[in-house]
Amino acid sequence: MSMNEEFPYSRVCVFGAARSGVGAMNLLRHHNIEVTLVDERPAKEFRSLVRALKRKHVTAHFGPVKADVLRGCEAIVVSPGIKLDHHLIQRAHEQDIPVISEVELASWFAQAPIIAITGTNGKTTTTTLTGQMVYDAGINAVVAGNIGRAFSDAVVSSQDETRKTMLVTEVSSFQLDSIENFRPHVATILNITRDHMDRYPSMREYIESKFRITENQTDEDFLVLNADDPIVMRVAEQSCAQIRTFSLEKEVEEGAYLQNDRIYLKEDGESIFFCNVDDIPIPGLHNVQNTLASLVLCRCVGIEIDSLRRTIQKFKGVEHRIEFVASSPDNVRYYNDSKATNVDSLEKALLSFNKPVILVAGGKDKQSAYDRLNSLVRERVKGLVLIGEAAPLIRKAWGQLVETRDAGSMEEAVRIASSMSQPGDIVLLSPACASFDMFKDFEDRGRVFKRTVRDFLGI
Ligand code: ADP
Repeated sequence: MSMNEEFPYSRVCVFGAARSGVGAMNLLRHHNIEVTLVDERPAKEFRSLVRALKRKHVTAHFGPVKADVLRGCEAIVVSPGIKLDHHLIQRAHEQDIPVISEVELASWFAQAPIIAITGTNGKTTTTTLTGQMVYDAGINAVVAGNIGRAFSDAVVSSQDETRKTMLVTEVSSFQLDSIENFRPHVATILNITRDHMDRYPSMREYIESKFRITENQTDEDFLVLNADDPIVMRVAEQSCAQIRTFSLEKEVEEGAYLQNDRIYLKEDGESIFFCNVDDIPIPGLHNVQNTLASLVLCRCVGIEIDSLRRTIQKFKGVEHRIEFVASSPDNVRYYNDSKATNVDSLEKALLSFNKPVILVAGGKDKQSAYDRLNSLVRERVKGLVLIGEAAPLIRKAWGQLVETRDAGSMEEAVRIASSMSQPGDIVLLSPACASFDMFKDFEDRGRVFKRTVRDFLGI
């Protein structure tokens, strides 16, 4: 973190006018730095933003990117959605204009310690839980990432704060691709599996990008790693930070682990019983893993164990991730897992329940190999209700394994699922597909499901 140095640029181009670009713009203007905001989408998509830009004296270019937008700019901030081979970024490189990510920019101005969370899966859950733990310990926790606000925005709001503050943020590999000085005081890599291969030439580049989270850490900082993931563990040798680990499989040297359904912290060579797995209200072993990571992160910043216990017991999870919706009078429990946009996430959800599941699945197909889950579906799914374009493909894979019905709408899906259920069963929306055929996005799909369930149950 370069917080003691002066930010060296007085005019900056911000490329991308979505949430993180707007956050970057706000942060720069907060510090009186001149901004040119650029986005390829047409101006008509930014009507509400344009007024704010005028007020803040920001120059904006919308629509096709012209060659001269970088004129006078000393650096360019790129939003995570932008590919680094974009011609504007190439041009910046040619002109020796530094390319920095929004996260990097924010860390220049961050005065509070940063807890940073990356990994292929579980970032949002771990970030939300860690933020809650920090907050419950009486510290002003400013949480940023996928949910809620951009990191720059979090930094702006923590800027003139007199209370003890910590910045808790989720960082994607894309954001890590263009960091220079970003230095979290505590960082974690939760897991690394194949993902985003459309953006990286190979798995090696994707892994290296995740490993950059620790590149500026020193021995005053902490790096919290998943001891069960051999790829993640490779970073330990390259890191200068103090290493802590967590494991679902084995006792660790320093950190947290699961043994016989009990969670322990391991500190200074001593194992301390923390809680039973059943005390964690969010379902699934993957969420036990996220909980272990959050515990270790919080212990690195000295949060009391009793306070952590209190947070865990009341944590309700994150919306759309195996989120409990309601229970019917005859004890059928409904869950919304709309974030499950692929087969891996559906697998995690099915593994989280030991009761029969009526599964509502389907949506926009992503050419997934549904048959990989055949045995799990046969074992755990009692009834299948299919929605969306992918219905015929899923029926082909699983239609022979369980009773399968089609539904033309969410209402029909909920009605059919309910008719297939018996007391004690679970009705689970976990689509294993994208949502864009019937809904705006996965959030919209999840909200429609929740509303439909509540209407159906009359609550
Ligand atoms: P992210 O922000 O990284 O996408 P989320 O917390 O939003 O992660 O979880 C998204 C999905 O990833 C979940 O619905 C679940 O299927 C899966 N998941 C969550 N945590 C883990 C984990 N620790 N390991 C593997 N998969 C996970």
